[in-house]
Amino acid sequence: MNLKAFCADFDERYTFTRIMAYGGWVYATDCHIAIRIPATKETQKPRDDDSFPSEQIPILFKRDFSLCTVPFPPLSGETYRDYDECECGMRDPDCQLCDGTGTWYFDIPYDMVLGATIIAGRLLKRILDNLKNVRYFCDGDPETPLLFVADGDVQGIVAPLRRSAHLSNVR
Ligand SMILES: [Zn+2]
Repeated sequence: MNLKAFCADFDERYTFTRIMAYGGWVYATDCHIAIRIPATKETQKPRDDDSFPSEQIPILFKRDFSLCTVPFPPLSGETYRDYDECECGMRDPDCQLCDGTGTWYFDIPYDMVLGATIIAGRLLKRILDNLKNVRYFCDGDPETPLLFVADGDVQGIVAPLRRSAHLSNVR
């Protein structure tokens, strides 16, 4: 299983750019999604990580994951175009991302409603691209993180959006 796909991919959240072990579990998070698997499933059997945020992360998992029974819907396949400022800051006319305009564009999947929560399409895509047989539980509160499980004894939580301008019409 590619746990690394759930780690942060930028240095501002340095602590979360790597897989972490603590208390018999192996964790990966980018602060939008957090997942964990039993340490026994990780062939390297890592030792507890000294810098693991042991006050913050395990408490998120003190939930009843046996309630996760509803299969994740497939992605609708619809995408919308979004943009971001380029890190080159218009200084590189040959920039591969923005051609020197300072703005780059990308397509991301529509956000979707699962239970009572709105989940970002890019997060759903990461979950569905990397895990098998994903099932979720929503307690009906739109602001409570969505719980999910997947094959390989994966437990996960994903933060909901308060609102979305890019909701899929597939429910
Ligand atoms: Zn650029």
